[in-house]
Amino acid sequence: MAQVQTSSLTRKYGVTMPHSLAALEARMVKVFECGSVVPGCNHVIHAEDESELMVEAIRHLRSAHEVEHLTERLKARLRAVIKDE
Ligand SMILES: [Zn+2]
Repeated sequence: MAQVQTSSLTRKYGVTMPHSLAALEARMVKVFECGSVVPGCNHVIHAEDESELMVEAIRHLRSAHEVEHLTERLKARLRAVIKDE
């Protein structure tokens, strides 16, 4: 996969993407620390993309913090504290 991207970039722009950078991007992980929203909670969730992370975070909030209804405001707050690892 990385090889294909590198060679198509090379054809298109005449540049070579360093393999190390491509590998780094492929392993990029999103992190949600529940303590950023619920003080005192040590639960940390890792996922490969934000939508997957949101699903897991919402599942955790429901089961651990009895959050029944997720308002848009709370979802925005979750998205705001998601970090790239
Ligand atoms: Zn929590």
